[in-house]
Amino acid sequence: MAKIAEAEARTFRNIFVCRKCKHKMRASSLKVAQGKVTCRNCKATVLRPLRKRG
Ligand SMILES: [Zn+2]
Repeated sequence: MAKIAEAEARTFRNIFVCRKCKHKMRASSLKVAQGKVTCRNCKATVLRPLRKRG
């Protein structure tokens, strides 16, 4: 089962979704936590990780 966890990490890590326009983008979680990442579509800084549950 370790392989699935790895694949999940690779798929979902560093991918965030804009809370305003649902635009998906790749960014480092560190930058998102610092609020340095803005949505390219609507310029909002409120993002959430792609994976909602868990
Ligand atoms: Zn947006």
